[in-house]
Amino acid sequence: MRPPGADTVLVRHADVGVKSGKVQAEMERRLRDNIEAIVRDRAVDAEVERRWSRILLHADEESVDAATDAAADTFGVQSASPALVVSAEKEAIVDALARTAREHRNSVGDTFAVRARRAGTADAHPFTSEDLEREGGAAVFEELPDPDVDLTDPDTTFSVECREKEAFVYTEQRDGPGGLPLGSQAKVVALVSGGIDSPVAAWEVMKRGAPIVPVYLELGDYGGPDHEARAMETVRRLAEFAPNYDMRVRKIPAGDTMETLAEEVGPARMLVYRRFMYRAAEHIAREADATGIVTGEAIGQKSSQTARNLGVTSTATEMPILRPLLTMDKSAITERARRIGTFRDSTIPAGCNRIAPDYPETNATAEIVDSAEPAGLYERAEEAAENATIVDI
Ligand code: ATP
Ligand code: MG
Repeated sequence: MRPPGADTVLVRHADVGVKSGKVQAEMERRLRDNIEAIVRDRAVDAEVERRWSRILLHADEESVDAATDAAADTFGVQSASPALVVSAEKEAIVDALARTAREHRNSVGDTFAVRARRAGTADAHPFTSEDLEREGGAAVFEELPDPDVDLTDPDTTFSVECREKEAFVYTEQRDGPGGLPLGSQAKVVALVSGGIDSPVAAWEVMKRGAPIVPVYLELGDYGGPDHEARAMETVRRLAEFAPNYDMRVRKIPAGDTMETLAEEVGPARMLVYRRFMYRAAEHIAREADATGIVTGEAIGQKSSQTARNLGVTSTATEMPILRPLLTMDKSAITERARRIGTFRDSTIPAGCNRIAPDYPETNATAEIVDSAEPAGLYERAEEAAENATIVDI
């Protein structure tokens, strides 16, 4: 629901607002650029402008909905509202509220409220925000078939943001991802397997501003074309949130190592695999000037992810391993994957051989994993990383 004639998007940013002045200005510029990149990528007809501590999208009535969605898909955005802009005069604002109520008289619901805020000095306008709420509320009341005011939990909120010269009227606030603008943090490598977890983990660090270098380990018979396609599809989805970033996937050949592990390593096989994986990822990270390795691991989700095993496998690299899903339940991760839009591709059946042993080690020590490791594992990991190919998604 939006006011008739709404052609502007009012964007509110999230954690950007808690920064010092200089950092905030820099982040707002970045946020502006990132919104613009998504707007262009989707061929939405809108111009992006940074004004005060807000960002505005100037669209038209046809494109305002798509422009609002584009803003609400940008990391660092708290929420976005399609708004009607009128002059900062009480009559104009009250009239806009009344017209909005008239247009939507049958979909307002049982209860409504009018909320107004005014920016600027106390005497910037010859009216207060309370005046707007009272007179606007009365005007809306007149337009509705069976009006009822509820100031605590209304079905519909008619909102006004009044600035010095113009006022924004809106009824809808679309949630963005929150977080920080992409690019405001250093890059990290994201290990993406195409399962449900890893794309969500990658999305979480992107949300906090860190661009990702996606890395996929090609596992030969233990992976296969469908396994790989799944990983690539999920990265393609993530790339829609970052059209102005390089999201090509580094594909590391690991099929022969998997064969070796399947033949030579027993209960600690998955742990050895993890060490190989971290080590190869570290190599890519150094080359790409990335500062950490992101995985979709969570405590206890699998035998290789018990608290003890995470500790033992993590020693393979000195680079920080970032695990945004560490404490999350699978159901919550799955729900987030659906929301982000990676769930469907993550659940394509991959039909590959199983690498996990029948009786996996759940309580490893450094000695157990060390002695299970084939000689030269780390050299092998580095060589595999050297031989990585770049997949254009
Ligand atoms: P996901 O965790 O993505 O659902 P999964 O459950 O099949 O996939 P796990 O066995 O839980 O994967 O692996 C733990 C983490 O290790 C993954 O979240 C991912 O970050 C990384 N990982 C595992 N296999 C691969 C691979 N083939 N390529 C890249 N990363 C991988
Ligand atoms: Mg997993």
